Amino acid sequence: MSFSAVVVAAGAGLRAGPGEPKAWRTLGSRPLVRWSVEGLLAAGAREVIVVVARERLGQVDEALAGLEGWKAVTGGVTRADSVQAGLAAVTAPRNQPVLVHDAARPFVTRTHVDRLLAALDLADGAVPALPVPDTLKRGDSLVDETVSREGLYRAQTPQAFRLGRLKAAYRRWPTGEEPTDDAAVVERAGGSVAMIPGDPMLMKLTYPEDFLMAEQLAASRRIVRMGLGIDAHRFGPGDVVWLCGIRIQHDVGLVGHSDADAGLHALTDAVLGAIGAGDIGEHFPPSDPRWKGASSDQFLTHAVAMLTARGGRILNADVTLVCERPKVGPHRADMRQRIADLLRVPTDRVSVKATTTEGMGFTGREEGLMAQAVVAVETPL
Ligand code: MG
Repeated sequence: MSFSAVVVAAGAGLRAGPGEPKAWRTLGSRPLVRWSVEGLLAAGAREVIVVVARERLGQVDEALAGLEGWKAVTGGVTRADSVQAGLAAVTAPRNQPVLVHDAARPFVTRTHVDRLLAALDLADGAVPALPVPDTLKRGDSLVDETVSREGLYRAQTPQAFRLGRLKAAYRRWPTGEEPTDDAAVVERAGGSVAMIPGDPMLMKLTYPEDFLMAEQLAASRRIVRMGLGIDAHRFGPGDVVWLCGIRIQHDVGLVGHSDADAGLHALTDAVLGAIGAGDIGEHFPPSDPRWKGASSDQFLTHAVAMLTARGGRILNADVTLVCERPKVGPHRADMRQRIADLLRVPTDRVSVKATTTEGMGFTGREEGLMAQAVVAVETPL
């Protein structure tokens, strides 16, 4: 089912301790807000509206770089103001479902979303709710009374509503009062809200200790994948070869539809291989005139963008060039730097090695050269 989502990331999150507001702190090396946006996009959101404080508008582009289908808007003074600013930016028809989600709950998945959307058939809203396992006390430093936890639940987010219904409920909400969630607004307006089973993984990161626990969980929800790429090109007329993004003066050139940079081609295939996304010929067919003479860095940039869009990142890359000539040594440092720039990783994550085949075979006879690349990436589970 098609749905839109509003992610609220405008709060200061003061209880999480000093430093950046919590939506902008990193969890598993990614900003917290990115987890929710990625989770909702992966669950099939047609659009995600991210509500941020005005001074964070510049930062959000960086935090969500490579993701498509989101838009940032400026929040208000209160959470309710921010939610309404987000709802106003939703482009879906008013009978479509909208999910409202707190950026402080990073582990939202398609399963959560599907359950909420299904529950909207029976009610005006749906919330994930968990029973309260602890005994409840009322009091200050001394207990006044023990409160029955019978029938009490903790409401989590995302919460699902029909867009028009939620907007109308907010219009009726009395000014001067501050709802703590969106279901409360619909309830007050006389709407029905279904409770679906909540999930401890939808926990809200509030205190510094929550972040420590979430780091462990985040690591367990990421996997390392490897990709291998191999490419060869034939020497031909010319006096320049491109290798690993570096222009090298030589007594012959390399023949290819693009600039014939076997190093970057092997790397591109390795990145595509690591995410199971086909090969370079599939994405950039040699039959397509657009790629005639093309600089191969755009192939690699495209593969990295696909990885980033899946929430992944490069861990390291190792390239081996197989040729008698040109000599790689004098260009090795430049090659590493160029590849590191294209992969957007520090230089020490990139290795460029060279070898010959001792005069044997096509590289030995200098009919052409070959490149092999291995790449390790980290992606969501
Ligand atoms: Mg090639």
